[in-house]
Amino acid sequence: MRRHLHSIYQALNTIRIGMQITLKYCFARTVTVQYPDRPPVLQPRFRGFHWYEIEKCSACGACARACPVDCIYIENAGPRKIDRATGISRGGAMVRWAIDYSKCMFCGLCCEPCPTQCLHMGNVHDLSGYDRRSSIVEFTELAAQGLRTPQPIWMQKGAVPAWVEARRAEWVELGRPRADEMRLALTDQPFPKKPPAESPPPDPSPSKDA
Ligand code: SF4
Ligand code: SF4
Repeated sequence: MRRHLHSIYQALNTIRIGMQITLKYCFARTVTVQYPDRPPVLQPRFRGFHWYEIEKCSACGACARACPVDCIYIENAGPRKIDRATGISRGGAMVRWAIDYSKCMFCGLCCEPCPTQCLHMGNVHDLSGYDRRSSIVEFTELAAQGLRTPQPIWMQKGAVPAWVEARRAEWVELGRPRADEMRLALTDQPFPKKPPAESPPPDPSPSKDA
């Protein structure tokens, strides 16, 4: 009889412990974000999909060498170098600059060694697509459209919430002021020749032979 009562006590106590946890969550603050009706809350140091300033890129490959998973692909038609006077890189056309986001782990190691500081972790948080191929972002193709960063497919279609309109405008604004330079980076651009060194002025002191 005693054993039987102990079993009943244990069963009731187990239910009490379980229900305590359930009740706690019934009255806790809701943390579910109603995405995409509402924007996700991004922390200040959030690392999302990159944004890339192609017109400053010298195609040095430092970012690709730093990438631990080899997911950056760069092709250029010839050597490029930055013009310090304008901050724009000139030389062979940028044929391809792409990232395979099915491999990228958003570590940010590619941005650190960039000598022209033209590669940045952005705040695009969503890149949903229909197939695996769409996870490879061709930044050179984006540059042809004056864009620096990819946008989720669903944001490019139909009516979108107001917060999406605001964020898209912010992404478009990243490239708008230099859209022409971005397109030029896709073509061969001769590097400006250095002006010839000026000859020293003639010595004004009179000649000893005179
Ligand atoms: S964030 Fe990391 S994994 Fe992604 S491209 Fe850069 S270095 Fe590679
Ligand atoms: S490190 Fe910077 S300049 Fe060099 S290829 Fe990468 S993005 Fe371009």
